[in-house]
Amino acid sequence: MVDQRLEVISGLQLWQWRNAAKQAAIATDVSPTEVDWLLQEVAGLDRLALCLESFKDWSQIQLQLPLVELEALWQRRLNDRLPVQYIAGVTPWRQFKIAVSNAVLIPRPETESLIDLAVAAASLPLQQGNWADLGTGSGAIAVGLADAFKSATIHAVDCSHQGLLVAALNARNCGFAERIRFYQGSWWEPLEFLKGQFSGMVSNPPYIPKSTLPSLQPEVFNHEPHLALDGGADGLRSIRHLIEVSPSYLLPGGVWLIEMMAGQADVVQQMLQDQGSYCNIHIHADLAGIKRFAVAYKSTPNS
Ligand code: GLN
Repeated sequence: MVDQRLEVISGLQLWQWRNAAKQAAIATDVSPTEVDWLLQEVAGLDRLALCLESFKDWSQIQLQLPLVELEALWQRRLNDRLPVQYIAGVTPWRQFKIAVSNAVLIPRPETESLIDLAVAAASLPLQQGNWADLGTGSGAIAVGLADAFKSATIHAVDCSHQGLLVAALNARNCGFAERIRFYQGSWWEPLEFLKGQFSGMVSNPPYIPKSTLPSLQPEVFNHEPHLALDGGADGLRSIRHLIEVSPSYLLPGGVWLIEMMAGQADVVQQMLQDQGSYCNIHIHADLAGIKRFAVAYKSTPNS
């Protein structure tokens, strides 16, 4: 959302804006800490300068956008519940700064665990070769996998062209343009030419039941792409598809790893078992103790 029309203002002006923005945040139940995070992104201030308010005495501060536009966007944060990450155009995720637009889901902190789980699940030989990030969105998972598996090629798929532009930008910004390939299409479909050759697949698919979407926070329901959220009538439409189709794409022993919603673990585990091509099925909790991740391996012919 932030463009590159720079504006220079005084520290005092910015200090005044910050105070007013924080007051307005408190009055509308938005965390005032968002103001300081946003100022780190759009005014280049560090946390110490914000904490000590030392910037108040600076004669010049460069903003990435005119102050009136920052104010207008902040009003949209408060009144329209526009997520602050869409205003800044970035979000922190693992050690990366991931670009986001409203074409992609804002990568969540809990999704960071998928990368650690992939590393833990994959033996050294499987940390190479082809990995898929299906429904890549911002490309965060693809970037995380490229970083974790230094000699793997990551194949990132999404049906959204706009989303893929964001993902490709992130691959470039994070230095992985050479090892992440992008494809527009539905789940495995564009990767048919590599059938049976994947060391692993990771996905954070849409998993929220359609009827519960309106009960999500307005930041999510009104601004994030429903394509990335809507898991159909029972929330399991995409997960069911990934369970059915993945065995023909994975190498024997290949890793199958997804994020899911609270309450879905038992049925996902059962579906994996019933499918018949998976072994060593494990459910993992997020840092809040909620069962959110499922890992399985494609059975080897004699297992
Ligand atoms: N975790 C997201 C949320 O909290 C949902 C993401 C998804 O459906 N994959 O809204």
